[in-house]
Parts: sequence; structure tokens; C-alpha cells
Amino acid sequence: MRRLRNVKIVATLGPASSTYEMIRALHEAGADVFRLNMSHGTHDEIAEKHKIIRQVEEDLGSTIGILADLQGPKLRVGVFANDGEMLEIGAAFRLDLDPAKGDNARVSLPHPEIFAALEPGKHLLVNDGKIRLRVTECGPDFANCVVIAGGLISDRKGVNVPDVELPLAALSKKDRSDLEFAAELGVDWMALSFVQRAADVEEARELIKGRAAVLSKIEKPNAVERFDEILAVSDGIMVARGDLGVELPVQNVPPIQKRLVRKCRAAAKPVIVATQMLESMIESPMPTRAEVSDVATAIYEGADAVMLSAESAAGSFPIEAVTTMDNVAVEVEMDPTYTQIIEASRSGSTRASVADGIVAAAREISETTDIKAIACFTQSGMTALLTARERPRVPIIALTSQIGTARRLALSWGCNCVLAGRLDRFKMAVVSAVRAARDEGFASKEDQIVVTAGVPFNVTGSTNILRVAPCDESLIYPADPE
Ligand code: PGA
Ligand code: MN
Repeated sequence: MRRLRNVKIVATLGPASSTYEMIRALHEAGADVFRLNMSHGTHDEIAEKHKIIRQVEEDLGSTIGILADLQGPKLRVGVFANDGEMLEIGAAFRLDLDPAKGDNARVSLPHPEIFAALEPGKHLLVNDGKIRLRVTECGPDFANCVVIAGGLISDRKGVNVPDVELPLAALSKKDRSDLEFAAELGVDWMALSFVQRAADVEEARELIKGRAAVLSKIEKPNAVERFDEILAVSDGIMVARGDLGVELPVQNVPPIQKRLVRKCRAAAKPVIVATQMLESMIESPMPTRAEVSDVATAIYEGADAVMLSAESAAGSFPIEAVTTMDNVAVEVEMDPTYTQIIEASRSGSTRASVADGIVAAAREISETTDIKAIACFTQSGMTALLTARERPRVPIIALTSQIGTARRLALSWGCNCVLAGRLDRFKMAVVSAVRAARDEGFASKEDQIVVTAGVPFNVTGSTNILRVAPCDESLIYPADPE
């Protein structure tokens, strides 16, 4: 499905978006990638959503990316006798390993590794950081705390411990089972939550065995500090602002977002800006001005994708939320200031390979003369990612014989994917690129496009040809070389 924007939209599916009609409508409204949250729902429910997405894909003849988001080592308190309690500032509250139901003086925290790492003076944050507890005294199976910021604490609320590095396994038993399940289902991307180090990503990669691309969610201070090593072993990144804003002061999040987005673009790896982008649209059909500005800012910064969480998963206005993102994206990308910012932040220094040179040349030619699109043949997706890093002003058409590559590229800025049969000859490649450009409405007969490819064909990383081709096939035959 052709979009009038380059930035991509990721929509999380949930109870508000689980039917065929809704998922199809969300895709038609602009969702390019659907996120399946493994924290919620049974494997049967996940499999059902996956099946519906693939059905929509087939019915509409488009390519849709599917991202499975593993819960990761998310820490939670136990349950309360009365479902929950109000904690007042200054009160004492105890966390321990006793599985008994909680009351207004204590609750269970079934994670011995937290107690092992705590010290007096450290902080525990509960319920998205709304409740702050400071440790006054602790042992291997308890922590006595004083309430610094009060509020309602209730069953299974999440706990963050930003001050300490927890020796937590990157993947819980549930994560391993979810990972295997999602990989077998055939998702395109696997997102890892609470990544703390490159080794966490490598561990997951060994289990995924190439069945999906790996996306690291940056939501811990450790991950920010070690971002370069994490990026090096990841295929993509999510700036997971929800937990990041709990683990770090909220005002630290915008500069981190800016820095991470730039680094991802320089590395030619897709980056998603996520969480609370249109939060008020969970309940309202109209976003706040601040939210619209936040979505716009992520796009001006050059993010590959913007994401909806509860807005599309559990809100009352999922389609309106996608439509809002789409409208904002179209408007931002028409703004000459956007082009200026994107061009000023291009990293020209990393021209290490022939392919780097070819994609830069393709963009330069497209700016010098009247070119309607840049078509690239890509097997692994690498050439499309390099072309996207250039952020050309004309559309990118990524031609591939690999459906998995096309679906993964659904997350990347500007990539319009077209499935092409395997090709053995350059002339045939040019003809099929030109046809794709016309069929998809990017060019007409009198136009010309840039085509890049690698000879020999079907060898990853061999991009070495650039051709400015007329979109009239009769002008390609018979003059072109084989
Ligand atoms: P989550 O991740 O929605 O899985 O918590 C995103 C975030 O923390 O921002
Ligand atoms: Mn998170």
C-alpha cells in the first residue's frame, strides 16, 4: 500500500484491535507494522492476531511487518488482600519474599535478586514511578522502606530499581518460550525488553537463529551508557520512553531520544520512538497540541518509525490515533524545514564500501535531475537500509525476492517494498524496476528512475551498478547490456 510519507507507523494490537475488520482498517489508515505484546494474551490469541495480519496482507497485496515484543525481566509486586492499598508519604512499607497477600504495611516482591543487590538509601519505584520508596534497612529476603511519593499500590504493579544493576537474566523462562513460539509463528522482528548489555542481545540472537530481526528496547540507564555496543549487535532500536522515563529523570529522555535517533541513522538501522505519543487519544478522539508536537519532533529528528501503544491496543480511538500520526507525518514531510534538518544531519563520513558510494551517488543524481524514484535490488535488505540512510527526496523502491526482507523493511524510513522474482540478468532487473515504479504509481512512461543492483545477482552485499533508466521499456530494449 503506497503511503504519502516516509516515516513508518507501528501500532500495538490488543483488545481494542483484535478483529480482522479493525486490523485491516488500521493498516489502511496507515499502520505499517503491528506490534504483538507478549506480556499480554495467550499463545493462541497471539497466533490468531498473526494469522489475521497475514490475511490482511494477502487480501490487500501489501507487505506488513510484525514485531513480537518480549516482556523481559519485568519486576512486579505480588497481590494484596484488598486488591490494593493507599501509601501515604512518610509511612513505613516493607517488601519481602513472603508469598502471603499484602496489606498496608507490606507486600511480597518475589525477586530475591533485588534484595541481594539493594542497600539502604537506594530507591524502588512502583507503578510507572508514581510511588517512590527509599530503603532504610534490608536483608536477603526483605527491604524496609519509607514512602517518598505516595499513591495507590495494587496487585502485580511493576517495580523499577534504577539505582542498581541487577544481575538479571536477559530472558526469563516465559521469554524463552515466547521467543520460540513467536519465531516459529514467523514474526519479522523480535523486540527485547530491558536490555542491559550487548551480551543480552547476543543471547537472544542465538535462540532466534535468524528467524527474525532483533530490536533492542532502550529503557534502562545501563543501556543508554552502553548504547554503542548494543547498537552494534542489534538490527534495530526502540527508544522505549515509558520505562526510560521511570528509570531516569523524565527531562533526560528528550536528549537521549535525539542522540539515539542520530546514531541509528548513521548505522543504517531502523529506530522507533515509542510510548505516550498520543496518550490522551486512549480516551479522546482529539490529541493534545503537545502530543502532536511530540510526534512531529520525532519525525523532524529523522526517526524511522513512531509507535502507538495503548492508543491502538486498548483505547477507544485506535483508527483516529493512526490517522492523526499519518496526518502529522504528511504535514511535517512537506515542510521545507524538515528537508533542511534531515539533510543537515546526514552523516557523510561513513563511506566505507562500494555500496555506500552507490547509494550516495543515487541520491545525488536524484537531486540533480528529474528522477522519480530510486529502485534498489536487495536480498538481505542492506542496500535498502543504506539508501534509506541517505534520506533521499524521492521514494525508495526496494525490490527483493525475499518476503522476509520486505516485511522487515516495513519498519525502515521510506522503504516501499516490491516482491520481484529472482533475476539473473541486469537488463531484466531494470525492466522489472521500471515496471514496479509505474505499477506502484511512482512514475509514468515518460519519467526516469535510478536503478541500483549488484552483479553477480543474488549475492548479498554486492551492490555495484547504478543505471538511470527510462520508464518506457521500449527504450530499454534492445540497447541495454545484458
Ligand atoms: P513497554 O515498552 O510498552 O513494553 O513497557 C515501551 C516503553 O517502556 O516505553
Ligand atoms: Mn517498557
